[in-house]
Amino acid sequence: MRLRGWCKIQGYWDAYRGGTHRPEGVLRLGLHRGSKPASISEFRSVFVNFVVGINGTGEEVTKLVTTLNDGKVTSPDAVEVVVSPPFVFLPLVKSSLRSDFHVAAQNCWVKKGGAYTGEISAEMLVNLDIPWVILGHSERRALLGESNEFVGDKVAYAVSKGLKVIACVGETLEQRESGATTEVVSAQTKAIADRISDWTNVVVAYEPVWAIGTGKVATPAQAQEVHSELRKWLQKNVSAEVAESTRIIYGGSVNGANSKELAAQPDVDGFLVGGASLKTRPCDDLVNSVDLPEFVDIINAATV
Ligand code: PEP
Repeated sequence: MRLRGWCKIQGYWDAYRGGTHRPEGVLRLGLHRGSKPASISEFRSVFVNFVVGINGTGEEVTKLVTTLNDGKVTSPDAVEVVVSPPFVFLPLVKSSLRSDFHVAAQNCWVKKGGAYTGEISAEMLVNLDIPWVILGHSERRALLGESNEFVGDKVAYAVSKGLKVIACVGETLEQRESGATTEVVSAQTKAIADRISDWTNVVVAYEPVWAIGTGKVATPAQAQEVHSELRKWLQKNVSAEVAESTRIIYGGSVNGANSKELAAQPDVDGFLVGGASLKTRPCDDLVNSVDLPEFVDIINAATV
Protein backbone atom coordinates (compact mmCIF):
# COMPACT_ATOMS: atom_id res chain seq x y z
CA MET A 1 0.00 0.00 0.00
CA ARG A 2 1.35 3.35 -0.91
CA LEU A 3 1.65 5.67 2.06
CA ARG A 4 -0.24 8.72 0.94
CA GLY A 5 -1.74 10.25 4.00
CA TRP A 6 -4.20 9.00 6.43
CA CYS A 7 -6.61 6.28 6.30
CA LYS A 8 -10.07 5.51 7.22
CA ILE A 9 -11.61 2.15 7.82
CA GLN A 10 -14.92 1.19 6.53
CA GLY A 11 -16.95 -1.89 7.18
CA TYR A 12 -20.25 -3.30 6.24
CA TRP A 13 -22.50 -6.26 6.60
CA ASP A 14 -23.77 -8.05 3.64
CA ALA A 15 -26.49 -10.62 3.34
CA TYR A 16 -25.51 -13.61 1.29
CA ARG A 17 -27.94 -16.22 0.24
CA GLY A 18 -27.04 -19.72 -0.70
CA GLY A 19 -23.25 -19.54 -0.74
CA THR A 20 -21.60 -22.66 0.61
CA HIS A 21 -18.56 -20.81 1.84
CA ARG A 22 -20.43 -18.17 3.71
CA PRO A 23 -23.26 -18.02 6.15
CA GLU A 24 -26.39 -16.13 5.43
CA GLY A 25 -25.19 -12.81 6.67
CA VAL A 26 -21.88 -11.16 6.31
CA LEU A 27 -20.24 -8.21 7.86
CA ARG A 28 -17.87 -6.19 5.80
CA LEU A 29 -15.49 -3.64 7.03
CA GLY A 30 -13.58 -1.33 4.83
CA LEU A 31 -10.55 0.70 5.59
CA HIS A 32 -9.41 3.32 3.19
CA ARG A 33 -7.55 6.49 2.64
CA GLY A 34 -9.05 9.67 3.94
CA SER A 35 -8.06 13.24 3.33
CA LYS A 36 -4.45 14.09 3.71
CA PRO A 37 -3.35 16.13 6.72
CA ALA A 38 -0.98 18.91 5.78
CA SER A 39 1.70 17.69 8.13
CA ILE A 40 1.89 14.20 6.64
CA SER A 41 3.59 13.97 3.30
CA GLU A 42 2.21 10.57 2.36
CA PHE A 43 -0.62 8.43 3.51
CA ARG A 44 -1.71 4.84 3.54
CA SER A 45 -5.18 3.74 2.78
CA VAL A 46 -6.75 0.38 3.38
CA PHE A 47 -10.26 -0.77 2.97
CA VAL A 48 -11.20 -3.83 4.98
CA ASN A 49 -14.37 -5.72 4.40
CA PHE A 50 -15.41 -8.32 6.96
CA VAL A 51 -17.99 -11.03 6.57
CA VAL A 52 -19.72 -12.26 9.69
CA GLY A 53 -22.61 -14.67 9.94
CA ILE A 54 -25.58 -12.97 11.49
CA ASN A 55 -28.23 -15.56 10.71
CA GLY A 56 -30.65 -12.76 10.26
CA THR A 57 -31.46 -12.13 13.90
CA GLY A 58 -31.27 -8.89 15.81
CA GLU A 59 -29.44 -10.68 18.65
CA GLU A 60 -26.67 -11.78 16.36
CA VAL A 61 -26.33 -8.35 14.84
CA THR A 62 -26.11 -6.88 18.31
CA LYS A 63 -23.43 -9.42 19.23
CA LEU A 64 -21.40 -8.53 16.17
CA VAL A 65 -21.70 -4.85 16.84
CA THR A 66 -20.51 -5.47 20.40
CA THR A 67 -17.45 -7.31 19.07
CA LEU A 68 -16.73 -4.47 16.70
CA ASN A 69 -17.25 -1.88 19.36
CA ASP A 70 -14.76 -3.66 21.63
CA GLY A 71 -12.14 -4.12 18.88
CA LYS A 72 -8.83 -2.47 19.65
CA VAL A 73 -8.13 -0.92 16.31
CA THR A 74 -6.06 1.86 14.87
CA SER A 75 -7.02 5.33 16.00
CA PRO A 76 -10.18 6.65 14.36
CA ASP A 77 -8.10 9.66 13.39
CA ALA A 78 -6.18 7.38 11.10
CA VAL A 79 -8.82 4.91 10.06
CA GLU A 80 -12.48 5.08 9.18
CA VAL A 81 -14.60 1.98 9.78
CA VAL A 82 -17.90 1.58 8.01
CA VAL A 83 -20.20 -1.34 8.71
CA SER A 84 -22.68 -2.43 6.10
CA PRO A 85 -25.49 -4.66 7.26
CA PRO A 86 -28.45 -5.77 5.20
CA PHE A 87 -30.99 -2.96 4.85
CA VAL A 88 -33.25 -4.23 7.61
CA PHE A 89 -30.48 -3.95 10.18
CA LEU A 90 -29.15 -0.56 9.16
CA PRO A 91 -31.01 1.42 11.85
CA LEU A 92 -30.08 -1.09 14.58
CA VAL A 93 -26.42 -1.04 13.59
CA LYS A 94 -26.36 2.69 13.17
CA SER A 95 -27.78 3.27 16.62
CA SER A 96 -25.56 0.78 18.44
CA LEU A 97 -22.25 1.05 16.61
CA ARG A 98 -19.39 2.97 18.21
CA SER A 99 -19.47 6.56 17.09
CA ASP A 100 -16.16 6.48 15.26
CA PHE A 101 -17.39 3.71 12.92
CA HIS A 102 -19.87 4.39 10.15
CA VAL A 103 -22.49 2.47 8.19
CA ALA A 104 -23.06 1.67 4.53
CA ALA A 105 -25.98 0.22 2.62
CA GLN A 106 -25.30 -2.65 0.25
CA ASN A 107 -27.19 -1.21 -2.67
CA CYS A 108 -29.63 1.50 -3.71
CA TRP A 109 -31.95 2.24 -6.58
CA VAL A 110 -30.66 3.75 -9.80
CA LYS A 111 -32.77 6.90 -9.82
CA LYS A 112 -35.20 9.00 -7.84
CA GLY A 113 -37.45 6.97 -5.62
CA GLY A 114 -40.94 6.18 -6.86
CA ALA A 115 -42.98 3.15 -7.81
CA TYR A 116 -40.15 0.61 -7.60
CA THR A 117 -41.49 -1.82 -5.05
CA GLY A 118 -38.80 -3.66 -3.16
CA GLU A 119 -36.08 -1.18 -3.93
CA ILE A 120 -34.42 1.30 -1.56
CA SER A 121 -33.74 4.76 -2.90
CA ALA A 122 -30.68 6.92 -2.41
CA GLU A 123 -33.01 9.53 -0.93
CA MET A 124 -34.09 7.08 1.77
CA LEU A 125 -30.48 6.40 2.71
CA VAL A 126 -29.79 10.11 2.90
CA ASN A 127 -32.91 10.57 5.00
CA LEU A 128 -31.70 7.91 7.44
CA ASP A 129 -28.27 9.52 7.55
CA ILE A 130 -26.56 6.49 6.01
CA PRO A 131 -23.44 8.01 4.47
CA TRP A 132 -22.13 5.11 2.35
CA VAL A 133 -23.48 2.69 -0.22
CA ILE A 134 -21.85 -0.26 -1.98
CA LEU A 135 -22.72 -0.48 -5.68
CA GLY A 136 -21.87 -2.94 -8.43
CA HIS A 137 -20.88 -5.90 -6.28
CA SER A 138 -20.11 -8.83 -8.56
CA GLU A 139 -22.96 -10.83 -7.07
CA ARG A 140 -25.41 -8.17 -8.16
CA ARG A 141 -23.77 -7.92 -11.55
CA ALA A 142 -23.86 -11.69 -12.05
CA LEU A 143 -27.05 -12.74 -10.27
CA LEU A 144 -29.21 -9.69 -10.89
CA GLY A 145 -27.87 -8.81 -14.30
CA GLU A 146 -26.56 -5.35 -13.42
CA SER A 147 -24.68 -4.10 -16.47
CA ASN A 148 -21.72 -1.73 -16.42
CA GLU A 149 -24.01 1.07 -17.59
CA PHE A 150 -26.61 0.36 -14.92
CA VAL A 151 -23.95 0.36 -12.22
CA GLY A 152 -22.54 3.59 -13.67
CA ASP A 153 -25.99 5.16 -13.52
CA LYS A 154 -26.39 4.03 -9.93
CA VAL A 155 -23.05 5.47 -8.90
CA ALA A 156 -23.85 8.77 -10.60
CA TYR A 157 -27.24 9.03 -8.96
CA ALA A 158 -25.99 8.08 -5.50
CA VAL A 159 -23.12 10.57 -5.73
CA SER A 160 -25.52 13.28 -6.92
CA LYS A 161 -27.53 12.73 -3.74
CA GLY A 162 -24.46 13.16 -1.56
CA LEU A 163 -23.81 9.49 -0.80
CA LYS A 164 -20.29 8.10 -0.69
CA VAL A 165 -19.96 5.10 -2.96
CA ILE A 166 -17.88 1.95 -2.88
CA ALA A 167 -17.99 0.93 -6.54
CA CYS A 168 -17.00 -2.68 -7.18
CA VAL A 169 -15.23 -3.93 -10.29
CA GLY A 170 -13.58 -7.24 -11.08
CA GLU A 171 -13.11 -10.00 -13.62
CA THR A 172 -14.29 -13.60 -13.63
CA LEU A 173 -11.84 -16.49 -13.76
CA GLU A 174 -12.66 -17.05 -17.41
CA GLN A 175 -11.95 -13.42 -18.22
CA ARG A 176 -8.65 -13.54 -16.33
CA GLU A 177 -7.59 -16.72 -18.05
CA SER A 178 -8.33 -15.24 -21.44
CA GLY A 179 -6.15 -12.23 -20.64
CA ALA A 180 -9.09 -9.81 -20.48
CA THR A 181 -8.70 -8.56 -16.90
CA THR A 182 -7.57 -5.03 -17.70
CA GLU A 183 -10.14 -4.67 -20.46
CA VAL A 184 -12.95 -5.82 -18.15
CA VAL A 185 -12.10 -3.61 -15.16
CA SER A 186 -11.39 -0.66 -17.45
CA ALA A 187 -14.81 -0.99 -19.09
CA GLN A 188 -16.47 -1.21 -15.67
CA THR A 189 -14.59 1.88 -14.52
CA LYS A 190 -15.30 3.74 -17.77
CA ALA A 191 -19.04 3.27 -17.31
CA ILE A 192 -18.68 5.12 -14.01
CA ALA A 193 -16.26 7.74 -15.34
CA ASP A 194 -18.63 8.52 -18.22
CA ARG A 195 -21.29 9.49 -15.72
CA ILE A 196 -19.54 11.36 -12.93
CA SER A 197 -17.22 14.33 -12.84
CA ASP A 198 -16.42 14.41 -9.14
CA TRP A 199 -14.61 11.36 -7.77
CA THR A 200 -14.18 12.71 -4.25
CA ASN A 201 -16.82 10.41 -2.80
CA VAL A 202 -16.02 7.30 -4.80
CA VAL A 203 -13.86 4.40 -3.67
CA VAL A 204 -13.13 1.75 -6.31
CA ALA A 205 -13.15 -1.80 -4.98
CA TYR A 206 -11.25 -4.28 -7.14
CA GLU A 207 -12.78 -7.65 -6.36
CA PRO A 208 -11.75 -10.46 -8.70
CA VAL A 209 -14.83 -12.66 -8.86
CA TRP A 210 -12.70 -15.82 -8.61
CA ALA A 211 -11.32 -14.65 -5.27
CA ILE A 212 -14.55 -13.70 -3.55
CA GLY A 213 -15.48 -16.22 -0.89
CA THR A 214 -13.27 -18.89 -2.42
CA GLY A 215 -10.27 -18.77 -0.12
CA LYS A 216 -8.21 -18.15 -3.24
CA VAL A 217 -6.80 -14.70 -2.64
CA ALA A 218 -5.07 -12.78 -5.42
CA THR A 219 -1.35 -12.70 -4.86
CA PRO A 220 -0.02 -9.32 -3.79
CA ALA A 221 1.55 -9.01 -7.26
CA GLN A 222 -1.75 -9.80 -9.01
CA ALA A 223 -3.61 -7.27 -6.88
CA GLN A 224 -0.94 -4.63 -7.36
CA GLU A 225 -0.92 -5.15 -11.11
CA VAL A 226 -4.65 -4.55 -11.50
CA HIS A 227 -4.71 -1.66 -9.04
CA SER A 228 -1.87 -0.04 -10.90
CA GLU A 229 -3.67 -0.54 -14.22
CA LEU A 230 -6.80 1.02 -12.79
CA ARG A 231 -4.85 3.98 -11.50
CA LYS A 232 -3.21 4.40 -14.91
CA TRP A 233 -6.61 4.22 -16.54
CA LEU A 234 -7.88 6.99 -14.27
CA GLN A 235 -4.82 9.07 -15.00
CA LYS A 236 -5.21 8.74 -18.74
CA ASN A 237 -8.98 9.03 -18.93
CA VAL A 238 -9.98 11.20 -15.99
CA SER A 239 -7.07 13.16 -14.49
CA ALA A 240 -3.78 12.75 -12.71
CA GLU A 241 -5.34 14.23 -9.61
CA VAL A 242 -8.21 11.73 -9.56
CA ALA A 243 -5.77 8.88 -10.21
CA GLU A 244 -3.67 9.95 -7.27
CA SER A 245 -6.46 10.63 -4.82
CA THR A 246 -8.96 7.86 -5.58
CA ARG A 247 -8.76 4.95 -3.20
CA ILE A 248 -8.56 1.59 -4.88
CA ILE A 249 -9.21 -1.22 -2.47
CA TYR A 250 -8.89 -4.99 -2.86
CA GLY A 251 -11.52 -7.60 -1.98
CA GLY A 252 -11.45 -11.39 -2.28
CA SER A 253 -10.44 -13.82 0.48
CA VAL A 254 -8.51 -11.26 2.49
CA ASN A 255 -7.71 -12.48 6.01
CA GLY A 256 -5.57 -11.60 8.99
CA ALA A 257 -2.64 -13.56 7.61
CA ASN A 258 -2.51 -12.21 4.06
CA SER A 259 -3.63 -8.64 4.75
CA LYS A 260 -0.20 -7.29 5.66
CA GLU A 261 1.47 -8.36 2.44
CA LEU A 262 -1.42 -7.07 0.37
CA ALA A 263 -1.47 -3.84 2.32
CA ALA A 264 2.21 -3.36 1.54
CA GLN A 265 1.47 -3.00 -2.18
CA PRO A 266 1.80 0.61 -3.28
CA ASP A 267 -1.54 0.81 -5.10
CA VAL A 268 -3.61 -1.25 -2.69
CA ASP A 269 -5.42 1.34 -0.65
CA GLY A 270 -7.60 -0.96 1.40
CA PHE A 271 -9.65 -4.13 1.56
CA LEU A 272 -13.10 -5.55 1.27
CA VAL A 273 -13.16 -8.51 3.62
CA GLY A 274 -15.97 -10.99 3.69
CA GLY A 275 -15.48 -14.37 5.33
CA ALA A 276 -12.56 -13.42 7.53
CA SER A 277 -14.77 -11.25 9.65
CA LEU A 278 -16.30 -14.44 11.04
CA LYS A 279 -13.02 -15.80 12.18
CA THR A 280 -11.01 -15.51 15.34
CA ARG A 281 -7.43 -16.37 16.13
CA PRO A 282 -5.93 -17.37 19.48
CA CYS A 283 -4.56 -14.47 21.50
CA ASP A 284 -0.75 -14.20 21.65
CA ASP A 285 -1.05 -13.67 25.38
CA LEU A 286 -1.23 -17.27 26.64
CA VAL A 287 -2.06 -16.25 30.20
CA ASN A 288 -5.16 -14.28 29.33
CA SER A 289 -5.95 -16.45 26.38
CA VAL A 290 -9.05 -15.35 24.49
CA ASP A 291 -9.80 -15.63 20.82
CA LEU A 292 -9.39 -12.35 18.97
CA PRO A 293 -11.57 -11.35 16.05
CA GLU A 294 -9.56 -11.44 12.85
CA PHE A 295 -10.93 -8.11 11.68
CA VAL A 296 -8.73 -6.41 14.25
CA ASP A 297 -5.61 -7.77 12.51
CA ILE A 298 -6.93 -6.75 9.12
CA ILE A 299 -7.80 -3.24 10.18
CA ASN A 300 -4.48 -2.86 11.91
CA ALA A 301 -2.65 -4.07 8.80
CA ALA A 302 -3.45 -0.61 7.52
CA THR A 303 -1.03 0.93 9.91
CA VAL A 304 2.03 -1.21 9.30
C1 PEP B 1 -17.07 -10.10 -0.67
O1 PEP B 1 -18.05 -10.74 -0.35
O2 PEP B 1 -17.15 -9.06 -1.36
C2 PEP B 1 -15.78 -10.61 -0.24
C3 PEP B 1 -14.70 -9.95 -0.54
O3 PEP B 1 -15.85 -11.75 0.47
P1 PEP B 1 -14.57 -12.64 0.95
O4 PEP B 1 -13.68 -11.75 1.76
O5 PEP B 1 -15.19 -13.72 1.76
O6 PEP B 1 -13.88 -13.14 -0.26
